[in-house]
Amino acid sequence: MNPVPETSPCQKVAISACLLGLPVRYDGGDKAWPLVAALERLGVCWLPFCPEAECGLGVPRESMRLQGDPEQPRLVTLVTGIDHTERLLAWSGERLERLAAAGVAGFLFKSRSPSCGLGSTPVHDTLGDGRAAPGSGLFARACGQRFSALPQSDAELLADEPALRAFLARLAVTGRV
Ligand code: SF4
Repeated sequence: MNPVPETSPCQKVAISACLLGLPVRYDGGDKAWPLVAALERLGVCWLPFCPEAECGLGVPRESMRLQGDPEQPRLVTLVTGIDHTERLLAWSGERLERLAAAGVAGFLFKSRSPSCGLGSTPVHDTLGDGRAAPGSGLFARACGQRFSALPQSDAELLADEPALRAFLARLAVTGRV
């Protein structure tokens, strides 16, 4: 994986850092995505981000979940119940402007994460009865609002070939994966 200089002509995709194999998950692990190298060969380069590590929570950290109103969920630690919503949202605003300045062309998110999931993250206790409804992680939601015209996808969705082709077409990237 090679994050690139800002002057590179490649198509810059901001990506959840754990998908690149970086050890930033709550337990120090990663979630390396098998298509990283194939997309690099087609001319994609990466702008990695990890909302939870970069906002100051570090690695390792207590795992978190989304809970409450699916339209305005809270990011809360699983055991100690600490609410990190404001911390993560404050970091997101500044980080999004840095991605804009770097020339970001699209986004790829880790599925089901309370920070990064795109429509795949459970939002718990929506009705106050312990059930969960699907939603988006706090950073993915902020990206959608700031960069609504750019292609954005949950990584697991791109296991479907037509979905992958459509994502690459929106990035103006051609060739077979
Ligand atoms: S899913 Fe997002 S917040 Fe979680 S480890 Fe990966 S990059 Fe970090």
